[in-house]
Amino acid sequence: SYIAMNISIWWIRRDLRLQDNPVFSAAHRASDQVLPLFILDPEILGSRFVGRRRSSFLFEGLINLDQELRNLGSALTLREGTPLQVLSTLKEELDYTEIFAQAEFTPLARRRDGVIKDALPLRLVGSPAIQPPDSVLKKDGNPYTVFTPYSRQWLIRDAPEIRGTVPERISSPSGVSSVPIPKPVLATSEIFPAGSAAGLRRLANFTEGLQAPIFAYGQRRDRLDLAGTSSLSPYLRFGMISPNVCLAAAVEAQARAKNTRSREGGHSWINELAWRDFYISILFHFPHVIHSDFRESLAAFPWRSDEDGFSRWKQGLTGFPVVDAAMRQLNQTGWIHNRARMITASFLTKDLLIHWTWGAQWFMEQLIDGDPASNSGGWQWAAGTGADSAPYFRIFNPVTQSQKFDPAGSFIRTWVPELGGVPDKFIHEPWKLPSESQSKYGFQLGKDYPNPIIDHGFARERALDLYSRFKR
Ligand code: FAD
Repeated sequence: SYIAMNISIWWIRRDLRLQDNPVFSAAHRASDQVLPLFILDPEILGSRFVGRRRSSFLFEGLINLDQELRNLGSALTLREGTPLQVLSTLKEELDYTEIFAQAEFTPLARRRDGVIKDALPLRLVGSPAIQPPDSVLKKDGNPYTVFTPYSRQWLIRDAPEIRGTVPERISSPSGVSSVPIPKPVLATSEIFPAGSAAGLRRLANFTEGLQAPIFAYGQRRDRLDLAGTSSLSPYLRFGMISPNVCLAAAVEAQARAKNTRSREGGHSWINELAWRDFYISILFHFPHVIHSDFRESLAAFPWRSDEDGFSRWKQGLTGFPVVDAAMRQLNQTGWIHNRARMITASFLTKDLLIHWTWGAQWFMEQLIDGDPASNSGGWQWAAGTGADSAPYFRIFNPVTQSQKFDPAGSFIRTWVPELGGVPDKFIHEPWKLPSESQSKYGFQLGKDYPNPIIDHGFARERALDLYSRFKR
């Protein structure tokens, strides 16, 4: 006998997980059968902002999710094409009732979803943020553009409830054709094994136990030579872990904290989750920030088209050890520390006076966690063009930053091995090592490692002079 099944589509975008996934839960509740679908969209995968490392991490994540689904009697369906085409074809094949997907706030995603909503039954559920962008607003209904008042409002809002235990079985329509998951071309698995199990393990390592790193986050978070942060950003980027679950784990850790200092560690970590939401909100309300300055006051600023400086910055050959170490770590692993992002971004925009979009594009290509909201937010912060930016006169000194946050130079020595033999005293500024003693340490400045491409003192004055003329 023929029984009509009520089918819904769980269109997976940035929510590669089953746990605390309101989209999957809603689709599961609403229908007899759920088709978990991922669409390989050539417009996204072919974009100049998408690098091979991030797409490899995504493909490994899909392999992982498919396995989890198979354990529950389902499987991932993959199709290639524009989302409208793919979803229309599936409508004919399956006559599904509804498509469930997580709301997204980038300009491209909003355009895409608008087009689909006009043609097909698309229901947007949940969001990649803890507090979605239209929920934290000023009293007059306008969006915040400064972080501190935003975060005050953000903190007093209720934390979302963690939803939906994972069902023991997922029933899916059979016989639906699928293309294979593309092969990851660059392995990311050593440092960042993809998938929700790995994300949850990482969160547990960071927040559980009496010696949990979250308790020392306040003291260690800025150090380049210590693993003081969670390194959860790639998992959050693809929703392999729910930000609500991260927040709940931090709140729970705070409740266990033995002293004020530990509790404050939890507090400053939660504050970073609020920064993430803040930038999602900025991008939602001011979509132009993805490719141009938030502030108009710097529109006529004489940015330099310094191709040679840009190329040296990308390769980690500026002659400033901390900048070079960070840029090489980025190229080799696809992840760098927040402090390293701020130092390298300040160097590009304020020392070299190169417009932030050049650097942001390179970061997007390289970063596993590359995200349009946080990346444009971080870059505009560093460049002084953003909503809530570093003041124009704050110009990072690459030497003092390095001395402060990599005191023994071990971060530098890891990524710039040619400086391995340079003594601690000179590791942050090897150009000060007298040429007589260079040979003693088996290294020659200008040959084994470049001379600084610019004098920081000069660059600082130049930037101060220009920025002060354009300040609001
Ligand atoms: P933790 O210190 O453990 O923080 C926990 C989480 O909070 C992070 O995983 C991240 O999701 C969020 N978070 C932390 N700091 C910030 C911040 N300043 N802004 C927004 N969210 C934050 N983050 C990205 O996820 N993708 C990017 O493309 C990105 N580009 C950046 C570019 C620049 C120039 C700068 C200055 C920052 C950028 N950041 C970006 C923010 C931040 O550097 C990373 O989120 C952080 O270093 C990730 O490491 P973690 O997971 O160990 O962070």
